[in-house]
Amino acid sequence: MVVFDSHPALVLNADFRPLSYFPLSLWSWQDAIRAVVSERVTVVSEYDRVVHSPRHALRLPSVISLKQYVPGGRKPAFTRFNVFLRDRFSCQYCGGWFPTQDLTFDHVVPRSRGGATTWGNVVTACSPCNLKKGSLMPHEAGMALLSHPAQPSTYQLQENGRGFPPDHLHQSWRDFLYWDSELEPF
Ligand SMILES: [Zn+2]
Repeated sequence: MVVFDSHPALVLNADFRPLSYFPLSLWSWQDAIRAVVSERVTVVSEYDRVVHSPRHALRLPSVISLKQYVPGGRKPAFTRFNVFLRDRFSCQYCGGWFPTQDLTFDHVVPRSRGGATTWGNVVTACSPCNLKKGSLMPHEAGMALLSHPAQPSTYQLQENGRGFPPDHLHQSWRDFLYWDSELEPF
């Protein structure tokens, strides 16, 4: 049973690339309809579902593109998910792969020693490794990093994201996303 709330629209920039990949730029159908009515976006693809207002009957958009190009969307946001994605959901000390809920973040230079919460100082770590390292420097804990943490490019996250596509992708989105994305209908 498809519920009304599950009809998000994929939002593309004016160049027909997703406004953002991580998180994937999705608007609720309400926001999408508002943008269509105010003519800020072009409807690229639609769901079968129709909504009625006093004056309009509109099919819910499944893909919309902005009429005005939004620049600067190319630098990935420093988010928990993006750090996991940069590190391919694997502990950067033991190399183990874990589901998201079992992963933690480790400050390479501990916060207690002035370590910052930045791309360059935060790595994905499993709980046992995080516990073992505690508030020590890696060498003090006898641990070595598998990669040198740095700000990733959008391209790098996109490449890593191919292995971890979003759980639900509507059929109409496929042309705008990864070439090899696996699709599950809603
Ligand atoms: Zn580990």
